[in-house]
Amino acid sequence: MEPIKEWPGSASRWDRARHSLGGGVSTGLRATMPPHPIYFDHGAGSRLWDVDGHEYVDFVLGWGPVLLGHSNPAVLDAVAAQLHRGQTYGSGHDGEFEVAERVCKIVPGIERVLWSNTGTEAVQVALRLARAATGRSRFIKFEGHYHGWSDPMLLAYRPAEDGRLDTLGSRGQLGRSLEDVHTLPWGDIDTVRQVLGDPSTDIAAVFTEPALCNSGVIPPPPKFLDDLRDACDEFGVLLIFDEVITGFRIAYGGAIERYGVKPDLAIFAKAIANGFPLAAIGGRADLIDQTVHGVVHAGTYNGNPIVLAAAAATLDELGQADTYSRLDSLGVRLAHGLGKTFIKHGINAAINQLGPVVQCAPDIVELTTFPEFLRSNWSLYDTIVLELLRRGVFALPGGRWYLSAAHTDVDIDRAIAAMNDALGSEAVEQARSKLSEVQP
Ligand code: PMP
Repeated sequence: MEPIKEWPGSASRWDRARHSLGGGVSTGLRATMPPHPIYFDHGAGSRLWDVDGHEYVDFVLGWGPVLLGHSNPAVLDAVAAQLHRGQTYGSGHDGEFEVAERVCKIVPGIERVLWSNTGTEAVQVALRLARAATGRSRFIKFEGHYHGWSDPMLLAYRPAEDGRLDTLGSRGQLGRSLEDVHTLPWGDIDTVRQVLGDPSTDIAAVFTEPALCNSGVIPPPPKFLDDLRDACDEFGVLLIFDEVITGFRIAYGGAIERYGVKPDLAIFAKAIANGFPLAAIGGRADLIDQTVHGVVHAGTYNGNPIVLAAAAATLDELGQADTYSRLDSLGVRLAHGLGKTFIKHGINAAINQLGPVVQCAPDIVELTTFPEFLRSNWSLYDTIVLELLRRGVFALPGGRWYLSAAHTDVDIDRAIAAMNDALGSEAVEQARSKLSEVQP
């Protein structure tokens, strides 16, 4: 296949969109996707088609939600059936508790569920529940972990230009946000214990991605989650797992099932409804039941019947016998193939894999920490992502690859062949030789 040279339909839409839509995109990160956002016409299974008629194997999956693949027939049928019965009632319906019961059955230790619309919102609810339960206000967050874009949480995710992590993540963010958070390196239980052991730190909760997916697909260091559990119990602090990426993805019961550690609260989103906007806060009944004792949890669209119909069908499909073993073997095949391809081209790359999530990080040999992730060569990777796009593979900047139950070995092999071609391309050669000029 001849590499795609241009995307005239997408380019003209990108020009037009910026005159009416702030930044031309619906969420800021999309503007960073090279060469500019691609405008899609439709998707089915593992494939997407853009407005210029190009077909891609999709490893973006809407930045994670579409774990069953695009337009999964069972999800579409469930949503279609609900569509004709009303869109939102502003009162009770069977879906809201039936799916909550399912989540409690699937995820160990989840006794109650609250519905919300996005991960960012659900994290806010969890923080409020933790503050209400403990009467304390501050929380621990780990470097490189992402918990949404809200004022309290958008901190210590990526370094500022001067390399500092203890700065605000956005202009306009409340400066006092920095005072409420204690950011620590992930994986070092001694620093966590030191902070928790000092009562003046006033810590209500420890938030963690149980496996660090936003900065490198890094599994928790051995025993770290158990040690966190013990330390939180000892000091009366809540442990909160942000399972927005890992939930229902790295096992049916997410990281809680996979690592066997039960947090007090957990946040789910993305994969739970295969692309429909649903998030959940789950956890101990006594914590969640604070919503009947003065803790406000609100939202016009919370638990609306359409997204819950999508969630019910998604959980049914994911619950089939071989789903997770198949997702894992697709992940292994992709990780293995990418690794071999980089070696063939004489480029170092760390490749990590956790079920259907794969991380590729060029120019480093090992990826077990956030600082290692930052040392990878992300400008080279941007060139690679563009060359993959030219070859019919839609992949995220930042090196994370998402696989769905709709992907096949053929899709993976096509991605690996595209990577082989991309690494041999003139653009990648040039990007590498420019780098060796500046790096003595
Ligand atoms: N937590 C984690 C771990 C995430 O990856 C994300 C989004 N990528 C969020 C929270 C925020 O979720 P949302 O984008 O739905 O607000």
